[in-house]
Amino acid sequence: MKQILNQIGGAPCAGIAWFDKRNPATGRMFARVAEAGPAEVDRAVAAARASLAGSWGRSSTGERADLLIAIADGIERRFAEFLDAEVEDTGKPRSQASQVDIPRSIANFRNFAEAIRQHSTEYFEGGTPDGRGAIHLTQRRPIGVVAVLAPWNLPLLLLSWKVAPALACGNAVVCKPSEETPQTATLLAGVMRDAGVPDGVYSVVHGYGAGSAGELLCRHPDVDAITLTGESRTGTAVMKAAAEGTRAVSFELGGKNPSLVFADCDFDAALEGTVRSVFQNSGQICVGTERVYVERPIYARFVAALGKAAQSLKLGSPDDPRTAMGPLISEKHRRKVLAYYARARAEGATVIAGGGIPADMPTDLAEGAWVQPTIWTGLTEDSPVVREEIFGPCCHIAPFDNEDEVIARANDTEFGLAAALWTTNLSRAHRVATRLDAGIVWVNTWGHRDLRTPFGGTRRSGIGREGGRHSLEFYSELKDVCIKL
Ligand code: NAD
Repeated sequence: MKQILNQIGGAPCAGIAWFDKRNPATGRMFARVAEAGPAEVDRAVAAARASLAGSWGRSSTGERADLLIAIADGIERRFAEFLDAEVEDTGKPRSQASQVDIPRSIANFRNFAEAIRQHSTEYFEGGTPDGRGAIHLTQRRPIGVVAVLAPWNLPLLLLSWKVAPALACGNAVVCKPSEETPQTATLLAGVMRDAGVPDGVYSVVHGYGAGSAGELLCRHPDVDAITLTGESRTGTAVMKAAAEGTRAVSFELGGKNPSLVFADCDFDAALEGTVRSVFQNSGQICVGTERVYVERPIYARFVAALGKAAQSLKLGSPDDPRTAMGPLISEKHRRKVLAYYARARAEGATVIAGGGIPADMPTDLAEGAWVQPTIWTGLTEDSPVVREEIFGPCCHIAPFDNEDEVIARANDTEFGLAAALWTTNLSRAHRVATRLDAGIVWVNTWGHRDLRTPFGGTRRSGIGREGGRHSLEFYSELKDVCIKL
């Protein structure tokens, strides 16, 4: 049985208790994870603070950029180890983790090394009230100790998305990975040590959210900023904790993202993109599609084609290269998703594909958190199945008749993270993209990311934007230095 330890101030340590970690594909327990209590969280924050007072606090942007490159190289060298850990924690297909999760995590460190190197200081002269006599330099300084709360769906990718810019800006971080995915954040501590990152700059505390390490970290008075990727209701809880110290927050939260398929679309491209956006990572992607609106002339054909695609997705062992879809993250999450499946049936939905637990899983996977890829039609827009984030491999498809109508339905949500639209009409693409209330709109594609662009959502989908210079803005403070000449 593996033991996964906290990583505090450059050293592994146990905590106040242990919790079990199971492999979601098999249901088997394979590790005990050390849960950090108040003393461990305290020590991690103190180590972070101490690192800022030491050499790290005096490091130059060039030195930090070099370190980020060394971290990226370190993950690359231990690629197989990170891959095994991510697959074991999540059950996701190895092919996906090797093409998306681990390479994009490496890219995060490389990208922010470049971003910080190119970042320049602003200089102002001659702007004093009397028109002379002083210059101003606008410095970008670290915020201090940053608490990083990460989710389980893309564990290393979304953790590094925050850690890389935080370190680039000269902060020290205390990370609380999801209780479901403790391994890669822990491995990263070893990479940091080997790369020469000073002790205390990167610590990991394990545990749950409310009443555990997550809440302890957010409430710690010596944490200067909190960055969270997680559920919208977690955002509410963390915001309350942050309010006590008027700390800065950056939140990337949930979504109920629409996909708008117009009759003039490239049908095959729209179908392929929609299949990916609904089922990739078993639907456990914040920007994934759970509401599909299809213009009436192609509605029946699209429903049939999406249904067929869902039925043909191969579920199976993460190690089988033919596996297209893995399990959900846990039995607990499966219960939540299956409750929506039951609700859809109870409300009279037409089940086009799936709707339950796959019956034919091999014996070694029978105890895993598997659900069928599922498609419904026939629900009303006020159904919780159509309004609430399910975070599973499922979507509801509804027909529409005109642009205004579908925009109103797409925007009728408390979320505003992402939307996709499929059309070959250029004017419509611009028109509709502008009117959709979402932080990210994809036109004739889905999931494309350029790490320099702003990422985040409106309403309950988040606060702020991360990505490129937007991350650098969150993870730093501006200081104006005025020099009398
Ligand atoms: P979650 O909110 O349950 O947990 C996220 C992290 O916060 C975990 O480390 C958790 O332990 C911690 N946490 C939970 N409650 C807390 C509390 N009260 N105080 C302090 N910490 C707490 O989210 P999850 O289930 O791990 O991830 C899935 C959710 O994340 C989905 O809602 C999904 O949409 C969202 N998500 C959003 C994005 C985005 O960029 N917008 C990306 C990925 C996932």
